[in-house]
Amino acid sequence: MSAYADRLQALASAAADRCTGCGRCFEVCPTARESGLDSGEAKQRVAELSALTREGDRAAAGLEKWLSACDGSARCSAACPEGINVRQWITIAKLKAVEAARPAEHSAASAAGRFRHMAQAVRLLASMQLPSETLRQILAPAEKRTADVLFYTGCNVLRTPHIVLNVMDILDALQLDFDVVGGTAHCCGVYQFQEADLPTYERIGHRTFQRFGQSGASRVLTWCPTCTKNFGELEKDVEAPSFDLGHVSEFLAANLGTLEALFEADQPKRRVVIHEHLGIGATVESVGRLLRAVPNLELLELPQDSGFSYACGGQAAKFKEREAAIHRGLAEAAVAAGADTIVTMYHSCHRAFAGAEAVYPLKVVNFTDVIAEALGRGGHPDYYSLYKKGGAMDEAVSAARRFLQSNGVRIDEASMQSLTADIFNETGLAGPRDAFARAFGELARHG
Ligand code: SF4
Ligand code: SF4
Repeated sequence: MSAYADRLQALASAAADRCTGCGRCFEVCPTARESGLDSGEAKQRVAELSALTREGDRAAAGLEKWLSACDGSARCSAACPEGINVRQWITIAKLKAVEAARPAEHSAASAAGRFRHMAQAVRLLASMQLPSETLRQILAPAEKRTADVLFYTGCNVLRTPHIVLNVMDILDALQLDFDVVGGTAHCCGVYQFQEADLPTYERIGHRTFQRFGQSGASRVLTWCPTCTKNFGELEKDVEAPSFDLGHVSEFLAANLGTLEALFEADQPKRRVVIHEHLGIGATVESVGRLLRAVPNLELLELPQDSGFSYACGGQAAKFKEREAAIHRGLAEAAVAAGADTIVTMYHSCHRAFAGAEAVYPLKVVNFTDVIAEALGRGGHPDYYSLYKKGGAMDEAVSAARRFLQSNGVRIDEASMQSLTADIFNETGLAGPRDAFARAFGELARHG
């Protein structure tokens, strides 16, 4: 075992030692119920979790089902009377269970396949929506940066890069000494961890975290909820970093006084609903505080299924029907309550709702769109929402043609077919896929 694996084992063992076996974590787990596991067997499942932690070997069948259902909602941690970080414990136990269940080369191949697929989609979508100088700025090596604050994007937000540009505008308005870093060269390694390819995870995710420290930055602002969870719950506990780490929404909420003084008064009148997810620090509260401070914005609070997963997609995508019901339920409740806008917190949620305008009389924006606009900045086109709405594609195609050329990237028909599937097979609200497939197929064929 590597030193890193030893440290993970120590974290899991400490959780098992503190656990009283009360079973509360299993009783409240939404994905355990979704998978048909009986809450009456809570004590048995937790005993199996402790046994796996202490003895290794394969997980018992009931435990294996629980572990593989987990989508990281953290309801277990919130419910634990002992204050144990049960989500962290489950994450490490899941790694051990997969390690015991299949050869290491299968895990490595599976992780590499998922990473390759993601990297290809991110590279194409970023190259279709961003100029080359911005992409180069984001992808430059973290350890060579000199700014005091690093805004770390992760990989997948580059599918909806207007969000990155908004955050940069907001940090600029705060006159912060910051630099932006991200892309697949700075991946948090989530696929390798999930697939139990720990040696590669250490070379990717663990290394990315170390590179932040090598830059000398005093603070790293995360964007992606998955990176925030991985770095905040694994890396930070494995080895204390030399920098502060937290989600950008929390940082902005902590600087609300300065932002509020900069907000322009003539904001559009709107009634908005936040599409909420619990499970990542104080992000829901932070986004709410930021929005409430925007002139002419009324925030409506609707009951919603915010505890099912920490973000849309990812591990929660295993429960497509539940996710789809959450999306539909919120859009319908928002319309019934007289809202005109749904505000997303994260990029994967933004992708899920980006096409809602084709289905409901609602606008969909990310909270960073609203804050940047209130500062008199922002206004970056959301091309991804044009893709998802499925209407006229001329503006999106002509931007993509320009950006692809600037990035020196050529697209072919096969990659556009794969990208179409990637965009439209995700759970979420959308118009028809034909407009995107037709327009971008044409771009691939004729430039
Ligand atoms: S993180 Fe959420 S889904 Fe995973 S075990 Fe805990 S409650 Fe269940
Ligand atoms: S809720 Fe906490 S103490 Fe109770 S079984 Fe779960 S981890 Fe153990």
